[in-house]
Amino acid sequence: MINVIITTKKPITEIIELVKDSEKLFIAGCGSCSTVCLTGGENQVSEMAEILEGKKPYSFQEPVEEEYVDKKGRTKTKTIMVDREETVKEPHVITGTIVLEEPCDRRLDTKELPKADGINEADAVIVMSCGVGMQTVYETLIKAKERGKIQKMPMVFVSNDTHFIGQTQRIGVFTELCRGCGDCMLNETGGICPVVRCGKGLMNGPCGGMIDGKCEVKDYTLDCGWALVYQRLKLLDELRAYEKIREPRDYARFYATRDVNNR
Ligand code: SF4
Ligand code: SF4
Repeated sequence: MINVIITTKKPITEIIELVKDSEKLFIAGCGSCSTVCLTGGENQVSEMAEILEGKKPYSFQEPVEEEYVDKKGRTKTKTIMVDREETVKEPHVITGTIVLEEPCDRRLDTKELPKADGINEADAVIVMSCGVGMQTVYETLIKAKERGKIQKMPMVFVSNDTHFIGQTQRIGVFTELCRGCGDCMLNETGGICPVVRCGKGLMNGPCGGMIDGKCEVKDYTLDCGWALVYQRLKLLDELRAYEKIREPRDYARFYATRDVNNR
């Protein structure tokens, strides 16, 4: 099992709207995390191509007003979601597809992308990866254009939403365990991350919002992260670590762009 950047597909109707003015499309998938997430591997790239070429219908949900009679006999309306299936009205030309080994690696993109079949003809590139992969592909194409390695600069769109660094339970099923805060406190908390597992990201807890080990954030459906820390430290006979009072974190420190240079 590996840790991956977790992505989900944007609604296909959103992608169709995004690329509606671009006749010729190139699709770039991700051979790493988005393959494991089933959001950008070979199969998803092929499916996206077929849908945009109008060879395969796509499914979506549409809100519809429906009348009903309430308990007092009054006629009312409510909105329900109805499943629909359609085929794109103006099919695109797919100039080429590629599944990049790791779209987030500038060195690999620089080698693979500019020489990919069909990249020069494309009005737009759809990147089926996380946000890092999409930005790296974008930068790579801009550099390739500046250096004359491709003839024109296409638009670049991302087809996925990026969520978190996840633990793989099984293919397509993930749990968030780390938010990459850059100041890891797992050694103090018995290996449970309060930044992720506490609904308010508190540095000390539980707060008054815990009932029977559950957190008030998300209506008591989630375990209280600090109760989990307590149970783990108790199991380890390390409850002394629980007595430490921690200062609030300056979260602004990791909202600005961060760089790492381990060389
Ligand atoms: S404290 Fe939590 S979010 Fe921060 S690095 Fe450690 S596991 Fe990741
Ligand atoms: S109940 Fe627990 S997890 Fe929820 S906010 Fe309070 S300390 Fe954090």
